[in-house]
Amino acid sequence: MISKHIASLSQSQSLAMAQRVQQLKQQNIDVISFTLGEPDFSTPAHIKQAAQQAIADDYSHYGPVKGIPSLRTAISQQLANRGVSYTADEVIVSVGAKQALCNTIISLVSPGEEVIIPTPSWVSYSEMVKIVGGTNILVPTDPATGYKITAQQLESVITDRSKLLILCSPNNPTGTIYTREELAALVAVLERHPHIYVIADEVYHAIAYGDHPCSLATFPQLADRLILIDGVSKAYAMTGYRIGWMACHNQRILSACTVLQGQYLTCACMVAQKAAEAALTGPQQCTEQMVNEYAHRRVVILDIISTIPDVSCVVPDGAFYIFLDVSKYYGKSYNGTTITNSDEMNNFLLDEGYVACVAGSAFGEDRCIRISYATSEECIVEGMHRIKNALAKLQ
Ligand code: PLP
Repeated sequence: MISKHIASLSQSQSLAMAQRVQQLKQQNIDVISFTLGEPDFSTPAHIKQAAQQAIADDYSHYGPVKGIPSLRTAISQQLANRGVSYTADEVIVSVGAKQALCNTIISLVSPGEEVIIPTPSWVSYSEMVKIVGGTNILVPTDPATGYKITAQQLESVITDRSKLLILCSPNNPTGTIYTREELAALVAVLERHPHIYVIADEVYHAIAYGDHPCSLATFPQLADRLILIDGVSKAYAMTGYRIGWMACHNQRILSACTVLQGQYLTCACMVAQKAAEAALTGPQQCTEQMVNEYAHRRVVILDIISTIPDVSCVVPDGAFYIFLDVSKYYGKSYNGTTITNSDEMNNFLLDEGYVACVAGSAFGEDRCIRISYATSEECIVEGMHRIKNALAKLQ
């Protein structure tokens, strides 16, 4: 009775794992959770005040489908500060970057058309493609290239049915960032295949530990077929406000997404939009402080990892994840149970170490587990030692 496409969807594994942690905590079990992809900081005070002010100012009615003009202007200004030029009219505000991505995929992909997704990749892209009956072309990448798709790999999977490439930088789950040269090599391939559209998911652009990440939107060759995705969730610790957006020069895509959103959303929460506007137009030190703290935690976690035998990771350049290769432990056993894949490893770490991660299988890479370090230093130290001790039990 459920439609074929919807019945084929999987539950988000990171959300499922977070629910398991919640249940254990309710039983008073002391679990350390490295599962969630969200900042552990409170939303900065001036943003919360703006939300309260918006309630007082009666932002309690329907608004424009594409979002409040002053927010779209603020987004356009922020993009300009990043070296990319989009007018306010070329921006559509949605319920999180998640909905902006889904609007784009639904608007562009017809059943049977191919969507190229380098893996490891964020859990939801391929599920969104399933919603519309598109065909996922998952392209495994290698730690040796920093888990980044190469020009040759991209060229080799392109067919006349290819419709869309989804590129995420900084990446979830690996934390790696494409350099300008790496992006240029991919753009050169895309120039030879003008039928392919590109989603650049840059929701983690503000969380980088070196230079500012280069945006794919800075390549004019892609101007008419690139959709840039961003939001306030990660940069301003505003995951629950659910505000994200797409920016795009292509009027046909913009109008398709506007019609779609008008039919099934009307508009994103008006109060949350005013809070997002305050985030973008207000002081930016809050983001800097959070990034400095992530940078410190990254050093702490990498230091501990260097003391754990037989694990490895690509050092993340951005976001707040470590994608840890634990596959050298596959085939080893404890108490009669043998670990053979990332799901079993994940369950073992939870049962034996009371530490929750997300299995790499969810991201298309079974050798790894994802550890989010968007949690306190104390939890990082305790949780990583639990992982170390649990792994040491495997013989
Ligand atoms: N894109 C990536 C790569 C993410 O990791 C996430 C959230 O985890 C999103 C998009 C969605 O973010 P939002 O909270 O804005 O919907």
